[in-house]
Amino acid sequence: MEPQRSPLLEVRGNIQLKRPPVKAPSRLPLPGTRFKRGPDQMEDALEPEKKRTRGLDTVTKIATSRPRAPALTTVPQTQGQTTAPKVPKKTGPRCSTAVATALKNQKPGPAAPAQKPGAAAPVLGGRKPTKRPAWDLKGQLCDLNAELKCCRERTQTLDQENQQLQDQLREAQQQAKSLGAECRTLEGELARAQAQAEQGQQELGNLRALVLELEEQLGTQQGLVQELQKEQLGLQEERRGLAARLEEQERRLQASEAALSGSQAEVASLRQEATTQAALLVEQGERLHGLEMERRRLHNQLQELKGNIRVFCRVRPVLPGEPTPPPGFLLFPSGPGGPSDPPTRLSLSRSDERRGTLSGAPAPPTRHDFSFDRVFPPGSGQDEVFEEIAMLVQSALDGYPVCIFAYGQTGSGKTFTMEGGPGGDPQLEGLIPRALRHLFSVAQELGSQGWTYSFVASYVEIYNETVRDLLATGTRKGQGGECEIRRAGPGSEELTVTNARYVPVSCEKEVEALLHLAHQNRAVARTAQNERSSRSHSVFQLQISGEHAGRGLQCGAPLSLVDLAGSERLDPGLTLGPGERERLRETQAINSSLSTLGLVIMALSNKESHVPYRNSKLTYLLQNSLGGSAKMLMFVNISPLEENVSESLNSLRFASKVNQCVIGTAQANRK
Ligand code: ADP
Ligand code: MG
Repeated sequence: MEPQRSPLLEVRGNIQLKRPPVKAPSRLPLPGTRFKRGPDQMEDALEPEKKRTRGLDTVTKIATSRPRAPALTTVPQTQGQTTAPKVPKKTGPRCSTAVATALKNQKPGPAAPAQKPGAAAPVLGGRKPTKRPAWDLKGQLCDLNAELKCCRERTQTLDQENQQLQDQLREAQQQAKSLGAECRTLEGELARAQAQAEQGQQELGNLRALVLELEEQLGTQQGLVQELQKEQLGLQEERRGLAARLEEQERRLQASEAALSGSQAEVASLRQEATTQAALLVEQGERLHGLEMERRRLHNQLQELKGNIRVFCRVRPVLPGEPTPPPGFLLFPSGPGGPSDPPTRLSLSRSDERRGTLSGAPAPPTRHDFSFDRVFPPGSGQDEVFEEIAMLVQSALDGYPVCIFAYGQTGSGKTFTMEGGPGGDPQLEGLIPRALRHLFSVAQELGSQGWTYSFVASYVEIYNETVRDLLATGTRKGQGGECEIRRAGPGSEELTVTNARYVPVSCEKEVEALLHLAHQNRAVARTAQNERSSRSHSVFQLQISGEHAGRGLQCGAPLSLVDLAGSERLDPGLTLGPGERERLRETQAINSSLSTLGLVIMALSNKESHVPYRNSKLTYLLQNSLGGSAKMLMFVNISPLEENVSESLNSLRFASKVNQCVIGTAQANRK
C-alpha cells in the first residue's frame, strides 16, 4: 500500500518543482566576451545581475520566511511560476486540523497537471481518505504522528534547501562583488580608454594640423622644386652653351698654343731686338738731352741776338664814345719786306697851335717817327701779342730770368695787355694768364724728358714807395705798408717780400683765382679821388724751379710781369689844392721810380759797374729779373687819341731810349 502524502508536502513538492533553478553562473557574462562589449552593453550585462540579485533577495526572504504561513503564500507570487492553489500552511497541532480541512476541501483541479504523475496519487488519488471515527484516538494520533514526521522531514528538506539557497546567495554575492570589482576595473579601463581616446583625438587633431602644415610645406617645396627644375633646365642650357664655348676656347687655345710656340721664337728674337733698341733708346735719350741743351743754348742765343732788352709798342683802339683822331695822326709804315712784314715803325703827327707860319696859316703838323722791335696797331689781338713773347716764356723755363713791363699813361691799355679785358672773355685774356698756361703746358712736355717743374706765385703793388700784398686774405685784405723787400737769407741773392703770400700754383684755375683775389684787393684800396691802381706798380712774379733728377740738373728763374703806374705828368699850370698836392707826391714817386727804371736799364745795357737798383722799390724788387742773362721786354702802350698826344710822345721817347740802349748793347755784343 502507497503511503499517503500530506497536502503540505504536496505543496512543497510543487514549489520545488515549479521554481526555476537558479543558475547564476550561467547568466554571468562570459569571461571571454566581456571586453568585446561597450559600456552600454556592460551596463546591460550588469542589469540582469541586479535583477537576479533582487530575485535572490526575494528567494532569501522566501527561504527565511518559509516557516511562516503568509510567507508561504507569497512564494508562488514572487516566483510567479507556480500555478499551485493557495494552500494555507499550518504548523503544529493546529496544522493538522488545517491540513485536514484543506485535505477535506481539496478537489482535483488545475493543480493536478502540475503534479508529478504518481507523486500525489499514492496519497490522494485512487481512493478517498478515510475519516477515522472520533473514538479512534489512537488512529488519529498515529496519523498525526505520521503527519508530524512528514512535516519534520519536510522541514529538514526545506532547511537543506534553505542552506543551498544561502550558499547560492553567497556565491551570487561573491559573484556580484567580483563583478563589481570587474566593473570598476572595466570602468577604470573605460576611463583610461576614454582618456586615451581623447588623447588620440587630440593627437589626431595635432596630426591633422601637422598634415595640413606638411601639405602646405609640400606645396611650397613642390613650387620650389619646380622652380629649381626650371633653373636646372636653364643651368643645363647654360652649361651646354659653356661647354660649347669651352670646346671653342680649347680649340682656340690649341691654336694659340701652336701660335705661341711659333711666337716664342719670334719673341726671343724680338727681345734681342728690344735689348738693341733699349740701348739705342738710351743713346737717343742722351742725344735728345744733348739736343735739348743745345736747343736751350741756341734759343738763348737767338733771344740775345733779338736783344736781351726788347721794346714793343702797342696802340689801343679808340673806345666807343671817344673822339675819332684826325686822319694821319698815327701811322704804321710797313717794314722793308712790305705790308706782309710785321710793323716795327710808328709815326705820330702833332700840330702845334703855338707855332704859326709867317702868313698866319697854321703850321703843318710835326711828324715823329719811332722804330721798335715790334709795333702793334689798334686792331692787334691779345693772341698776336702773346705769340711774340711766347719765346721769352720758354727762356724762363730754360732758366733765364724774364721781365715784362707795360709802360704808358693811364688809360693806354697796360692792364688790358697784362691781365686782359673785362668779362672773362678768353679772346681778351692778357699776357699773365696766357704766359702761365704756356708755361704749364711746356713744363708738362719737358716732363717726358725727365724734367719736373714747380711754380710759386706772388703779386704785390708798389704805391708811393710802399709795398702791399695783393694776395692778402682775411683781415689783411686791402691793408698795405707792412711788406718789406728783404734778402731771403744772409748772403743770398734771392729776394722776398715780407708778409706777402707766396702761393704754389700748378694749373690755370689757380692762377685765375689769384688774379681775381688781386683784383678784389685793389678794389678795396680804391678811393674816390684817386684810381690807386693806375698810380701804383703791380708786380706779378712767378718763381720757376726745374729739376732733372736723372741727371742731377737744376734750373730756376723768376718770371716777372709788371703793370707800371701811369706815366703821365702833372699839368704844370695846375693850381695846387690839398688833393693836387697829394697827387703831386704820387706823381713824383711814380716818375722817380720810372726814371730809375730807365737808368737801371741804361746802366745794365752799358754794362756799368754800378746799377742804381736801390733808388726805387720797383728796381730793387726786380733786380734779379733784370741783370745778367735776364731777358727784358717793355710794352709801351699808347692812346690813339689826339688829346693824349703829349703823353704818347713822352712814352714813345722813353721807350725809344730804352730801345736804343738795347740796340747799343746788341751792337756792343756783336763786337
Ligand atoms: P691802363 O691800365 O693803362 O690804365 P687799361 O688797360 O685800363 O689802361 O685800359 C683802358 C681802357 O681801354 C679799358 O677799358 C680797356 O678795356 C680798354 N682797352 C685797352 N687796350 C685795349 C685793346 N687793345 N683793345 C680793346 N680795348 C682796350
Ligand atoms: Mg691799369
